[in-house]
Amino acid sequence: MKPPLRILYLEDDPTDAELVEETLAADGISCEIVRVETEGGFTSSLKEGGFDLILADYTLPSFDGLSALKIAQKEWPHVPLIFVSGTLGEELAIEALKIGATDYVLKNRLSRLVPSVQRALREAGERLNLSKAQEALQRSEAYLTQGQKLSRTGSFGWDFHGGKIYWSQETFRIFGYEPPTEPTLELLLRRTHPEDRGLVQEFVDRVWRERNDFDFQHRLMMSDGSVKYLRVVGHPSKNASGSFEFVGAVTDITEQKLAEEALRKAQAELAHITRVTTLGELTASIAHEINQPLAAVLTNANLGIRWLSGNSPNIDEASAAMRRIVRDGNRVSDVISRMRALFKKAPTANEWLAINDAIAEIVVLTQGEAQRNSVLLRTELADDLPLVSGDRIQLQQVVLNLLMNAIEAMSAAGEGPRELWISSTKVAGAVIPKKIIFDAKRHAESEYHYILVGIRDSGPGLDPENLGRVFDAFFTTKPQGLGMGLAISTSIIEAHGGQLWATPNEPRGAVFQFALPITG
Ligand code: ADP
Repeated sequence: MKPPLRILYLEDDPTDAELVEETLAADGISCEIVRVETEGGFTSSLKEGGFDLILADYTLPSFDGLSALKIAQKEWPHVPLIFVSGTLGEELAIEALKIGATDYVLKNRLSRLVPSVQRALREAGERLNLSKAQEALQRSEAYLTQGQKLSRTGSFGWDFHGGKIYWSQETFRIFGYEPPTEPTLELLLRRTHPEDRGLVQEFVDRVWRERNDFDFQHRLMMSDGSVKYLRVVGHPSKNASGSFEFVGAVTDITEQKLAEEALRKAQAELAHITRVTTLGELTASIAHEINQPLAAVLTNANLGIRWLSGNSPNIDEASAAMRRIVRDGNRVSDVISRMRALFKKAPTANEWLAINDAIAEIVVLTQGEAQRNSVLLRTELADDLPLVSGDRIQLQQVVLNLLMNAIEAMSAAGEGPRELWISSTKVAGAVIPKKIIFDAKRHAESEYHYILVGIRDSGPGLDPENLGRVFDAFFTTKPQGLGMGLAISTSIIEAHGGQLWATPNEPRGAVFQFALPITG
């Protein structure tokens, strides 16, 4: 059985209340009426709540129906209120409906009360359901927005007809725009990183033509100059109005990309360490290969001297010793030419690279060592340098080697300023053997262009007698030195079609410079 209807009734005449109860009961609506006469009674009952319906007389000795309606709307906006009055004129009735009364019934036409109550309850039920649905919708929208924000994934729609684009709040945030800005392809391209624009335009054209699922990555250039990496996925589907659109998601994958980049750097470092270790082993084995024939050369030379000295030199034995010397000498020279061939190897990886980025990575790696040795390391890198083609890791190995040599030279020298600069710049020049003359004015029309990287220190500098020898393999002035750093650096730079050389720095120190050709 249905529970009785709980009615709050603002009425000063108890007989009227009884009449209402009877009228409703006659139509099978059982109810429980709480009758109040004053404002105080009305508000305190209202506060207790639990009413399905409010009935109110319009004029009461100490209170009025219109004020009651306003209070009820504030407290319980979903509970319907019907005026039951003896004297409601048309104007008042309209006013009451306007400010939210559900209906009005005249006391002398109480037969209208039952359908009016039924309609009011039905409508109130519908309103309640609607507001619950709205609340659920709002909540799910809020969850969706929060979810998109946390996962850095925005959504979008792209209408096949007319090409209109819709963005979610998070998509706006990712692109760095705010509504009411209209998302358009133009806007998207404007925000796209300049280097990716052509690719994105091509991609958009293809997607538009083929209308298939897509999954694409590109970069954005934000207005503060920062770069974002995006993954964009889309799927063609039919929308509510029956037309087709792409529905998709945009994820900000910048953090993931930076982590990958850091991993790549760590791998490059590891590769470098592996190379250095391999180099040590290589040197040991070369030394071993050279040592044996060299010992034989020395022995035979001593024997030769012995056979030739004295009163009766033994020419046959001496010439046999000479032949052995030549044989073993050839073995040494053979080892050396094999070693040369090894170092003359072409770059192993060829990629287009921004030399400044490659330098910056090595500067970060070297800063610690510089600081430990109280060396002030500064960069003077030119803007807008063209890309060079080469092996990033090998070129970084050269830069690292030159920086470490300079740091070592300055700290070994003890007292004195410890300043180190690394610079990069674009120059025009002409190549002459073992040297490149740079004269931007004279060679402005020259077809040769280079990127010149310089490593300048304020250390002891190079001894004039060593100047020509420092690039030789095994030449070192350090107790633990291998003497291979500059030799290998030279072969790397030459394999890139460039040159490496050293000059004194003014007023003190050394400058090592290498030039890489700009091709294309
Ligand atoms: P290693 O570092 O093992 O000695 P390198 O080929 O790197 O081998 O360098 C050869 C030599 O060149 C060094 O031992 C040092 O005498 C000299 N040299 C290199 N760089 C500098 C520099 N910046 N200042 C002074 N001397 C240097």
